[in-house]
Amino acid sequence: MTISMAGKRGLIMGVANERSIAWGIAKSLNEAGADLAFTYQGDQLRRRVEPLVTSIGKELIIEADVTSDASLDAAFAELKAQWGTIDFLVHAIAYSDKTELAGRFADTSRDNFLNSLNISCYSFIDVARRASDLMPEGGSLVTLTYMGSRSVIPFYNVMGVAKAALEAATRYLANDLGPRGIRVNAISPGPMKTLAGAAVTGARRTFKHAETNAPLRANATLSAVGGTAVWLCSDAGACTTGEIVHVDGGYHVLGMPRPETMPN
Ligand code: NAD
Repeated sequence: MTISMAGKRGLIMGVANERSIAWGIAKSLNEAGADLAFTYQGDQLRRRVEPLVTSIGKELIIEADVTSDASLDAAFAELKAQWGTIDFLVHAIAYSDKTELAGRFADTSRDNFLNSLNISCYSFIDVARRASDLMPEGGSLVTLTYMGSRSVIPFYNVMGVAKAALEAATRYLANDLGPRGIRVNAISPGPMKTLAGAAVTGARRTFKHAETNAPLRANATLSAVGGTAVWLCSDAGACTTGEIVHVDGGYHVLGMPRPETMPN
């Protein structure tokens, strides 16, 4: 079955460059026929994001820093003025100070804890509320998580706690917005080679380990995550909400690595 997104439009938040998961999702949604608007974080990223947006024939690109109410007020006011309503929103935003994606979780600072949870979790609640006001006919909200939410992944540290909060927020939002026909889901890819992914100490080893041990012997690709997002944003996902969908070659089902890959 080919999923069509023709006649649907949505906002993509979190493109930094062509390797961003948000960009992989945008390409898949575009191929399925959706109309797309984009946000970017600050002028430096605009220079990177604008050519990508133009390359797929889209035009609506709006600045949004999720730590600023004023920035989000302006971004959603602009979206409303341009389009009035939307059908879906993709939130692919996370941040922790890189120095705390190393060493012990026990040494997490209060400042970085609060900032990481603000950007990586609260921002989804905030944009979900704003986006839902633009979805009178229902819609779909998708965020990005990682299995460091429920298992200890070396050096993922405060981001693991942020993703646990984000997954709980996904369920609570699904319950609040479900009566209005708005679905809320999270995609949980395995490790991917992006700016955010590279910030975690040992990222290359984690990537290789997951690829070697995952049941499919493969890591997630931008198009695999994109395809899952198309399903969740489209009518094909009509009865799925509050869900965490893994796109990780099956790595999350493992209890331990394959013995033959472990040192004697
Ligand atoms: P990325 O660096 O390409 O994207 C992260 C985005 O967050 C950037 O576009 C950045 O501008 C944005 N951002 C950070 N702070 C912001 C702020 N204050 N306001 C607005 N935007 C802000 O990396 P990515 O890997 O594509 O990350 C996208 C999502 O996928 C994140 O939630 C990440 O945790 C999640 N994820 C990544 C992996 C991985 O291995 N790369 C695995 C699972 C989940």
